[in-house]
Amino acid sequence: MPLFGALEAGGTKMVCAVGDASGNILERISLPTRSPEETMPDMLDFFRAKKLAAVGIGCFGPVDLDRASPTYGSILATPKLSWRNFPMVETFRRTLGIPVGFDTDVNAAALGESTWGCTREAANSIYITVGTGVGVGVIINGKPYHGMTHPEAGHIFVARHPDDPMEKGICPYHGNCLEGLASGPALERRWGKKAQELADCGEVWALEAYYIGQAICNYIMILSPEKIVLGGGVTHQERMLPLVRQEVRRQLGGYLQGKGLDDLDNYIVPISLGDNQGVMGAVKLAMDEYAAEAAPV
Ligand code: ADP
Ligand code: ZN
Repeated sequence: MPLFGALEAGGTKMVCAVGDASGNILERISLPTRSPEETMPDMLDFFRAKKLAAVGIGCFGPVDLDRASPTYGSILATPKLSWRNFPMVETFRRTLGIPVGFDTDVNAAALGESTWGCTREAANSIYITVGTGVGVGVIINGKPYHGMTHPEAGHIFVARHPDDPMEKGICPYHGNCLEGLASGPALERRWGKKAQELADCGEVWALEAYYIGQAICNYIMILSPEKIVLGGGVTHQERMLPLVRQEVRRQLGGYLQGKGLDDLDNYIVPISLGDNQGVMGAVKLAMDEYAAEAAPV
């Protein structure tokens, strides 16, 4: 059975794994994200030592996903300056000599859930992470969605709550976008404590649910997903999910009808693959790239 390499490339850590075509993760290591010069050799050593058919990468972004572009597979405007313009796909392809699948970290996580997890029955689904940033992976007809580029639905504009005590959101690009108002660091800026230390403050989570609920209403109106997965550090707060569902119901205002909306508990759901949806999605990216390159033209 062929083996596939998987890399979940994040701003703080790089998770390298080996998986099989059933999504089993057989081995994994986690390396701190330093500069490419410091981090790439260790990652490449890990993968080179295995007999891999292909490797898949779910990468922090934005990234260039246009296969016709000379910089396809590179990281673009990241605040991690040493990684800006780094040719991720090129480097793996050249060094390992095997097919390299590539997508955003959130599209990979969405793909992991839709291949082996809680959205496998749905052809159209989204995966939202609320952590250090806010990101959304989009699956349309079973495939990660790309258009001009990939969606950046963590940076959508939401209406600020009139009672929000934070004067302005913290996104360096947009101020009051969703990420600027609702990410873990935004919670910390607004309330003066880390999000995990705010468990007992009802108003914190009511306001957070107001923003996340608003965003989800927009995603529902635009994409009509059949199921929505909510993950990321901030959603470790148990009271978040019920509050978010309540906000979604309230803000939709009874306008829409659809199977999912009759049963929000099964429509907006927590992650199902533990911490593995990202690497499992990267395995699927590797499998798909392997199949595409093996297929006769
Ligand atoms: P990343 O987004 O970097 O991959 P995480 O998804 O773990 O990592 O998100 C980190 C953010 O989540 C931090 O801002 C942290 O404060 C917040 N966070 C982590 N654990 C919790 C928790 N139990 N409750 C609320 N917020 C949390
Ligand atoms: Zn933004």
